[in-house]
Amino acid sequence: MTSLGVCLFCSASVKLPEPYFDLARRFGDRIAAEGWVLVYGGGGNGLMGAAARSAATRGGRVLGVMPQMLADREGIDLSLGEHQIVDTLAERKAQMAQAADIFVGLPGGIGTLDEVSEMITWNELGIHKKPMILLNEFGFWDPLLEFFRQGVVNGVLRAGFERHYGVADTLDTLFDQLRDHARGRTSSAG
Ligand code: AMP
Repeated sequence: MTSLGVCLFCSASVKLPEPYFDLARRFGDRIAAEGWVLVYGGGGNGLMGAAARSAATRGGRVLGVMPQMLADREGIDLSLGEHQIVDTLAERKAQMAQAADIFVGLPGGIGTLDEVSEMITWNELGIHKKPMILLNEFGFWDPLLEFFRQGVVNGVLRAGFERHYGVADTLDTLFDQLRDHARGRTSSAG
């Protein structure tokens, strides 16, 4: 089994349709089944909590990175795997990025959008070469993908911008892509 740190960016909201929670739980289950490490924001609420609880319940390794100032608001659950407490949101993002080999975006709000955008930006700027994959179940990311497409057409984004992120339409496709990445890392390391 090839180890992989998969960083999940997703909603901390509790007011979401049940299929979104189901998707997050299935994501967590499958991370555990693969024997990979789930790196996430450390919150016990929303899709973050759902994915982490599922992964931990199935014996998966979970690493949560939480800024002290958000620990109460986001319902940190210290029983879920390992936690790192940091001072700022920027530090959280940097720690998560360092611990991960690859990033996945599930449905989320402004925090998720910030995190997803920054990881794509770091790829574009060559700060790292860690893929960012958007799981587009429910067509959740269609508006952002359209923004990217239009951005290339009208010139605010460079031609070839689509190289800097991936899209998976289903959970199965996502895990195919994650396994491909894990295999690629193994063969380049060996
Ligand atoms: P959200 O997608 O808005 O539910 O937020 C997901 C995670 O991102 C939560 O853990 C938030 O603490 C974090 N977050 C919220 N707003 C921001 C922001 N403006 N910049 C960075 N992270 C944020």
